[in-house]
Amino acid sequence: MRDYDVVVAGAGTAGAVTAYTLAKRGHQVLLVDRKQKERIGDKTCGDALGSHHLRELKELIGLPDVPRSIVEYDVKGIDLIAPDRRYRMRMAGPTTTGYSFNRLKMGQWLVGLAEAAGATLMPSTRVKRLLFDNHTVSGVRVTPEGSEEEKDIHARVVVDATGASGMLRRQLPEETPIERVVAKEDIMVAWRDVYETPDYTFETPEILEIYWEQEQTLGGYTWVFPQGPNRVNVGCGLMTLPNHRQPKDIFNSFIKETWDFMKTRLVTIDSGGGIAPVRRPIDTMVDDNFMLVGDSACQVNPVHGGGIGSSMLGGAHAGITASEALEANDTSISGLWPYNPRYMQSYGTKQASLDIFRWFLVNVTNEDINFAFKKEIIKGSDLLAVSTTGKMDLAMGDKFKRLVSGVGRIPLLMRVNRVAHLMEDIKQVYAEYPSSPKGLADWRRRLDPIYAAAKKA
Ligand SMILES: Cc1cc2nc3c(=O)[nH]c(=O)nc-3n(C[C@H](O)[C@H](O)[C@H](O)COP(=O)(O)OP(=O)(O)OC[C@H]3O[C@@H](n4cnc5c(N)ncnc54)[C@H](O)[C@@H]3O)c2cc1C
Repeated sequence: MRDYDVVVAGAGTAGAVTAYTLAKRGHQVLLVDRKQKERIGDKTCGDALGSHHLRELKELIGLPDVPRSIVEYDVKGIDLIAPDRRYRMRMAGPTTTGYSFNRLKMGQWLVGLAEAAGATLMPSTRVKRLLFDNHTVSGVRVTPEGSEEEKDIHARVVVDATGASGMLRRQLPEETPIERVVAKEDIMVAWRDVYETPDYTFETPEILEIYWEQEQTLGGYTWVFPQGPNRVNVGCGLMTLPNHRQPKDIFNSFIKETWDFMKTRLVTIDSGGGIAPVRRPIDTMVDDNFMLVGDSACQVNPVHGGGIGSSMLGGAHAGITASEALEANDTSISGLWPYNPRYMQSYGTKQASLDIFRWFLVNVTNEDINFAFKKEIIKGSDLLAVSTTGKMDLAMGDKFKRLVSGVGRIPLLMRVNRVAHLMEDIKQVYAEYPSSPKGLADWRRRLDPIYAAAKKA
């Protein structure tokens, strides 16, 4: 007996869009979240989203235009700042225009869309565990927050949209082809505050700032994202490499000392820590009657940590594929499989390629970055191209060659070229993503040597 076609665990950006997509196609969907209804969407986040994601979602699933009431400020570009803070470069293009959102209002908007499309929302309810029927996922056990009472809900498909914890993914049996655990080195830890700055006015609130400093925020950065002339979202994230520091400590020392506005009167609107997976997507995001979306599927840009747009994209592809599988009465791993190549083609390949670039960024020094900024070896447009396409143009290597010869930076030049080749190699492997579960093991084996080389590049 099935209670619903699909149960979606977690009503964040990924879960809400999955539910919206399925409900719009006429399926019976239950969307469960442990938060109270009016708190859904409240999340520690930089709150920034490129508008290209929204255009893509409009085309794919007919997502309505964003209401102005959920936007704090329009974003026109991003400034990257060198470690010595003497140089900065501006990235301005189609992928760097967008919005600084009010995150809570955005979450409320998406859940409202899912409900209006016909999904049933069950807030204040914790999903506790997966249910199995003959070793195959058959539903979830839930419990209302603050109660001992338990209820079993059966569905033909269960979607894990519980965010970075991936709490249902981790409960899958050992035989699943899905990776149940995400390595520590693939997790970014972060701290961020949102302030009103009554005595400080941001002169260019439409420009977001990203500041690299390898000794403080290795594998991550500090962000200063104004949300208007007198409001800002500021935070820092770093990779959880061995002996990493706590982001809150970095925030309270380094960030407070570095930025002038931090020394003025601040009215705290929100303050908190969070984590995000920064790697390629999980290699298969489906098993029998089971799907992963959003952070639970590692659908986050490995270099800048943005995951709002890609989690919504994941939700849209998952919803479309689950709908087709339900219609065909085949929700086995084979029936749900097309979700994998669809996501890989639309965003996953770029993630995989940027995962290589992430390791390069971990392995460069402050001096390397200062030098590259000073000599304009890498321009904003080059980095924009890398972040848009996941492709590093080898012409960048030529620029290095011209500028660094004789200055003792040839090893860096060689590394840039090597990384560019590895990024191309991984894109080629993803272009041959298997068309059925049978090819997964062989395909996966091709990834290992490329990532092993990237970590040393
Ligand atoms: C500090 C920080 C800054 C970031 N800044 C940006 C940014 O500026 N731009 C950007 O694009 N991305 C940013 N990201 C990433 C982005 O926030 C995530 O990638 C995105 O929110 C993922 O959406 P999701 O739906 O997968 O997960 P979430 O938004 O985390 O949603 C998961 C939902 O599941 C619910 N849930 C969890 N467990 C259970 C359970 N057991 N039972 C019921 N419900 C459950 C939660 O309550 C939550 O509502 C940032 C992340 C962090 C940590």
